[in-house]
Amino acid sequence: MDRGFLFGDGIYEVIPTHSGKPVGLQAHLARLANGLAEINIANPYDNKQWEEIIVTLVERNRTAQTGPYIGIYLHVSRGTVMSRQHAYPQDIPPTVFAYGFALASPPQPDVDKVSPLSVALEQDLRWERCHIKSTSLLGNVMHFEQGRMQGKQETILLNANDEVTEASSCNVFVVKDDIIYTPPLDNQLLPGITRMLVIESLSREGMKVKQEVVSKALLLAADEVWLTSSSKEITPVISIADQRVGNGKAGPVWAHAIAIFNRHKFSL
Ligand code: PMP
Repeated sequence: MDRGFLFGDGIYEVIPTHSGKPVGLQAHLARLANGLAEINIANPYDNKQWEEIIVTLVERNRTAQTGPYIGIYLHVSRGTVMSRQHAYPQDIPPTVFAYGFALASPPQPDVDKVSPLSVALEQDLRWERCHIKSTSLLGNVMHFEQGRMQGKQETILLNANDEVTEASSCNVFVVKDDIIYTPPLDNQLLPGITRMLVIESLSREGMKVKQEVVSKALLLAADEVWLTSSSKEITPVISIADQRVGNGKAGPVWAHAIAIFNRHKFSL
C-alpha cells in the first residue's frame, strides 16, 4: 500500500560517482529537496545524512565487477497508507528506497571511440510538470519505447509549437555555426544536473551556451546534437528520425565540450 507503488507519488534522483567521487552532488540534493517540497513531502534527511547514505552505498557496491563508476538511485515516496484514495494523509513517514548500481563508463573525448546515438523524433505527449523529477515515468517510458520500436536509442521530443523540450531521459544541446543552444528551463523539461554542469564548465573556459528555444528546423539543420544526463554525460547524436546530423559523426565541438566537462565536473 505504498503510494509510490499505487500512484507513482514520489521523487527520485540518480547521482553518478566516479571512484567514489559524486558528480554534481549538491545540485542533485537540492533538486531532490525542491521536488519533495513541490509535492509536499517532508524531506526525510538533511544533506549530510543523504551524503552518508551515498557514501555507504558506494562502499557496499564497489566490487571488481562494478568498476569505478557507481550510480546511486534515491527514491522518496509519500509512504504507506491504509486505503487507496487520492487524498493523502498529511503526517505519514515517507518511504525511502536507495541502491547503488554499476554505471557504464562515460564517453571519452575521442570522436572515433565514442558510441554515438541514433534517435527518433516525436511529439511530446507528457504532462505539464516535467520539471518535477517524479517517479511517475510512464510518459517518459512510452516515449523511450517509441524510439526503441524504430530501432533508435532515444527519442527527442517536440512540443505543440514544434520546439524541442528534451529527450525521454536526457536534455538536448544543439550546435549550429559554432553556437551552442539548449532549450531554456521551464515546466516542459527536467532541470538536468548534467545540463547545468555543461553550461557552467563551458562558461568557465569562455564558451557560452545560449539557453534559447530550439525549433525543429534548428534541430534538423544542426551541425551537432548532444544528449546529456548523469549516466550519458555528453553523448553525440548522429541521426534524428533517419536524417543524418552534420557529417554523421561525433563533432569537434562535442569533443572539446566533453574534455572541458571532464576538467570541471568534480568542482562544480
Ligand atoms: N530529462 C529527463 C526526462 C531525465 O529523466 C533526465 C535524467 N535521466 C535528464 C533530463 C537528465 O538529467 P540529469 O542530467 O540530472 O541526469
